[in-house]
This record gives sequence, structure tokens and C-alpha cells, in this order.
Amino acid sequence: VCCILYMDYKKLTQKLFPDVKMTQVDLEKKYPRRNLPKDAFVTRVAPSPTGFMHMGAIFSALVSERLAHQTGGVFFLRIEDTDKKREVVGAIDVIVNSLKNYGLTPDEGEVEIGKEIGAYGPYKQSLRGDIYAIYAKKLVEEGKAYPAFDTEEELEKMSNEQRETKIRPGYRGSWAVWRDKSEEEILEALNSGKKFVIRLKATGDFEKKMKCSDMIRGEREFSENDIDTVLLKTDGMPTYHFAHVVDDYLMGTTDVLRADEWLASLTLHLELWEKLGWTAPRYGHFAPIQKIDEGSRRKLSKRKDPEANIVFFEEAGYPQVAVIEYLLNLANSSFEDWRKAHPTTDYKEFPFYIGRMNVSGALFDINKLNDISKNVIGRMNVQEVYEKALAWAEKNDKHLYDRLSKNPKYS
Ligand code: GLU
Repeated sequence: VCCILYMDYKKLTQKLFPDVKMTQVDLEKKYPRRNLPKDAFVTRVAPSPTGFMHMGAIFSALVSERLAHQTGGVFFLRIEDTDKKREVVGAIDVIVNSLKNYGLTPDEGEVEIGKEIGAYGPYKQSLRGDIYAIYAKKLVEEGKAYPAFDTEEELEKMSNEQRETKIRPGYRGSWAVWRDKSEEEILEALNSGKKFVIRLKATGDFEKKMKCSDMIRGEREFSENDIDTVLLKTDGMPTYHFAHVVDDYLMGTTDVLRADEWLASLTLHLELWEKLGWTAPRYGHFAPIQKIDEGSRRKLSKRKDPEANIVFFEEAGYPQVAVIEYLLNLANSSFEDWRKAHPTTDYKEFPFYIGRMNVSGALFDINKLNDISKNVIGRMNVQEVYEKALAWAEKNDKHLYDRLSKNPKYS
């Protein structure tokens, strides 16, 4: 019976994925496992091109970069641009330039505008559609995923019903209409030209807990995943959940360090790793950088706080390395004592520990940044201060620029 079912799925997947020619074996040949020492970290920063470089993104890049380079590993940049509706022109350049300006140039991916290096590319998800399709096809063939032809109206109706009856939301159990449809029904929908998504056939039990270990938070327990989450959207593009698993596997990531907004989907991600037959990397989730607003803590907001945008610091004239040292201090508070003991050493010599990161999130404090910045400037020689001030003034204060450049000696 198994064999017959398997054959049926194969016929079906040919119809669902007519353009997929390669197999996972071909892919694994193309992207061999990395040959690195056992303790080397392979990390990445994986921003979406929104046109805005959040301080949190630099923080995340810094933590990932430090861990990789401290251990003789690899730090790469992957652009997560599968949501074409959200994309802003020039946004990738903002990412590439910000990383470079802050001394966080990746080893692989787009290292300079328009220049991509590395053997695991393309490093832009929008160019990896055929790769995701190969694995989605494999999951459908193995009965671990299935096509679902629900219309937007039908899905909205489901959500409304769940909300009104106070049922936990999600495409699952009896709500998962397409989960157990016969091959004939699926072929019929396909032949009538209906749009479909590919959904995971979740096998978790929400009543059961699953232990997950986190690099920053230690061991945590979460309910197993029972939602048939979308893996490929109607346009064939993957969701973040599916794309990051496939990419981090092929690109050999050992450590996924990301914001804690993803913690809630960790069980889903671990289920995906398992269903694809792969060993999951270590995951670490850090809390966002926060500030005190009217007496209570809240995360830095892109809309309300100018300092959420990394450009703010450039315009205000902070040296990039001061911002980096400040963020390092937020990540590991022992940095401050280390800096005192090693006043002239490059920050890259500081031994960063992921396990010492603050679980509840660091508080942004401009006075602290000013203090660090003062020390960083204090360590520069006169010529360096002059050149940096001049370069800043040229961009931000024409009048000052004219004055400074007229009489360098006096300046
Ligand atoms: N594109 C995701 C984000 O911007 C990346 C999360 C991750 O690092 O995996 O949130």
C-alpha cells in the first residue's frame, strides 16, 4: 500500500512541480558540506530589504560576525527578499553599505554593491525558487506536505469562525480541508487552474510539550506544532519558515542567531528540519533592544525612535566603532571591564560569549553611548579626528566643512 501511495504522490508531484528537473542529490553535490574545524561557527545575517537598517540588525550581525570570526568560521549575508510586495528599491544597497561601514563585511554573499562571492549562492532568496521547489516536491512525495487550494475568502471565513468561537487559530485538524483529499480531487482542482499553496502536514500534538534548547535562554519547553503551515505560497515563493531551513541546511549554518519574535515558531522549524531528514543547527533568540518610555520598557520602534535607524548615528557624528563597542557592551556587559583593562586593544580581541547575553533584552542608553564614543575619539590621533570630522561635515554641515577645510592646522 505504501508503495502504491508513494507512486501516486510521484505522479502528482510531477503535475505540481512540472519545472523541477534537479533532485536533492544534485543539490547536495553542488553545495558540499563545509570543510571547517569542528568548533568553527557558521553564522549569518539574513535581513529583508525594507530600506531601513535597524540598530537591531547591526546588533544581530555583530553577534553573528563575532562568533564566526572568533572561532575561525564563516559569516555570510543572505538577503531574504521573498516578499516582493514589501521590497523597496535600493534597499539591498542600504544593507550592504551599512554592514561594510560598521566593519561587518560578510565573507560570503553580497560583499559590495552588485558583487556576490561564495560557493553557496545565490545568496538572495528570490533567486533560489527552484531550490525550494525541489524540497517541497520531496516532502509532497513522501506524504509530509500537500497542496491546498483554499481561496482567500475561504481562509478568511475559517479565521472568522475560529475567532468567533474562540478556537485556537490555524489551518489544522478538521480545519485543514485539503489535508486528506484524494488524488482525484487534487488533480481536478489542479486541472481547473485553481491556485494552490504547499502546506506542511504537521504531526505534532499541541497538548504535548517539546524541549528546545536555546543558546541564550537555555532549555525551554513549547507545545508541539500542529498547524499545517504554508511552505510555498501561490506564487511559488517560500515562506520564511521553509526558506530559512532549506538555506541554512545547504549553506551549512551551524548557529541561527535571531530576534526572539521567531521563538514562537521554533517547534515548527525543528519539525521542518526533522521532516527533511536533517540535523537542526543551534538556535539562539535574543530580545530586542529596548528603551524606557514614560516609565516602562518597550522595544525600540522604527516609527517612534529615530535612533532605531542606524543612519541616525552616522548623521549625529558617532564614529562607527563607538556604536559597535556600545552594542558589544549591550551584548556582553563584561566588555566594559575588558575595555578598561585593555584601553587600546582592538574590540575584536574581546572574547565574546553567547551564553552571557541578557535574556530579557538590553536597554538603550544614549549617555552610555556618548561615554563610549568620547573614549573612542579620545584614542584617535589628531589627524584621524580631523579627517573624520571633515568627512562628517562634508556630508552633514557645509558651513563647518568650509571652516575646517580652510585652515587645517588651526582646525
Ligand atoms: N529575515 C528574517 C528577519 O528579518 C531573518 C531572521 C533570521 O535571522 O533567521 O527577521
